[in-house]
Amino acid sequence: MLRFIVVLLFVLMSTLPAHASSLEFSVHKLESGVPGHTILIVGGIQGDEPGGFNAASLITTQYKIKSGNIWVVPNLNFLSIIKRSRGVYGDLNRKFDELQADDPEYKTIEKIKSLILNDQVDLVLNLHDGSGFFRETYMDKLRNPNRWGQCIIADQETIEDTPFGGLADLATQAVNSLNGALLKPDHTYTFMNTRTREGNVEMAKTLSYFAIRNRKPAFGIEASKSLPTHERAYYHLTAIESFMKQLDIQFERGFTLSAAGIKHAINDNVKFALNDSRIVLDVKDARRNIRYIPMRKEGGLEFFPSNPLMAAIDTGEGYRIYYGNRRVTWLHPEYFDYDTSVDSVGITVDGVSRQVQFGDIVPVKNSFNVHPTSKLRVNVIGFTKKGFQNESGVPITKNNIQKRFSVDKSGMLYRVEFYNEEKFSGMVLVNFSEDALASGGDVRLDGKEAELVGGANDGADPLDAHGV
Ligand SMILES: [Zn+2]
Repeated sequence: MLRFIVVLLFVLMSTLPAHASSLEFSVHKLESGVPGHTILIVGGIQGDEPGGFNAASLITTQYKIKSGNIWVVPNLNFLSIIKRSRGVYGDLNRKFDELQADDPEYKTIEKIKSLILNDQVDLVLNLHDGSGFFRETYMDKLRNPNRWGQCIIADQETIEDTPFGGLADLATQAVNSLNGALLKPDHTYTFMNTRTREGNVEMAKTLSYFAIRNRKPAFGIEASKSLPTHERAYYHLTAIESFMKQLDIQFERGFTLSAAGIKHAINDNVKFALNDSRIVLDVKDARRNIRYIPMRKEGGLEFFPSNPLMAAIDTGEGYRIYYGNRRVTWLHPEYFDYDTSVDSVGITVDGVSRQVQFGDIVPVKNSFNVHPTSKLRVNVIGFTKKGFQNESGVPITKNNIQKRFSVDKSGMLYRVEFYNEEKFSGMVLVNFSEDALASGGDVRLDGKEAELVGGANDGADPLDAHGV
């Protein structure tokens, strides 16, 4: 369910991509199987608000729902996310009232509207990073009634005769939870009622008011652009968990809810598998370019990211890999036919012989030695010892590999590739970093246990005064 495939075959032009619709948003339905309420969480309605979309992404990769359901759209405006723009085609959160059918985002709006209106959805949370700090009285330039950061927004006090229609009460509960868990005393949260129905023209065009008009409880959650991304995500997740508790949705979380825990969860694990998982690359610390990646001649690219904020864009000169607002690396393919007759190889790692699957990332302390087979030729990318046609049966240490061939900037992660005559069979990564050993064992990326990744704090202007 967490697995999703983005097959992107278009060229990203320097202005606007020719087929931007290929970056459609994904829907992740985390269903417990235990009856209960359902919250829909929306991240990335504006592309330059990484606190919100990273929080939403972490829900999809790191939360297990034990009762009730959580539906997540972590990347509503995916094109704008990778372009680091509030909205490539204008502000998506002003298109929920009237919209021309020829608007490039018309279909996106129709799809998210129908999700909001789905009978199963009890409540909607729209995640934002707002400017400064909303304060009811003027304190200074960053803290005043015209700022949007650090508040929970509803369009009105209540929706009559509707389950969870007590909007102000629900928001106030969440505000109290947030204020009991502040990272710093001046990060205080406040409830903001935009009184949209009383003539707030701007807010009448938003996602949350579309929901309210259709008697669906909805809230905007705002963190502050003055905070680093992981702290914004901390507040978003704290608010989300408060709403989950209020709707009796039980969950488990795969990390500690703290600034450090979230920073680690966002930054640590940025990976993807390609083409039948015969290639897995960990790109959390990737070099700017990764060259001669053996890609399949036929059928295009199958891209399985470890989180829903990653995309691979065909630039015409390889694939640019994005993770939220970050440009992670650039893959330069070399095209091969694929051999699918072998899925694993024998390797002795630090003296211990074992079988390793293609796509595995194998921690190595001192040396590894690929077992010779009659079928496969081994190519350790960057291996320097002369006189070896086939680089199996020889113990290899980090010092035997030229650092400039590493996948990562730190020079710890190297590619071991396997070929059957002219065909590519698969790749294994060896990881010499102490972290890899400490975390214990191989890493595998198979959609079912997709791992987290996080995003960026690039260029967001804390004084950008846009509303939700
Ligand atoms: Zn926003």
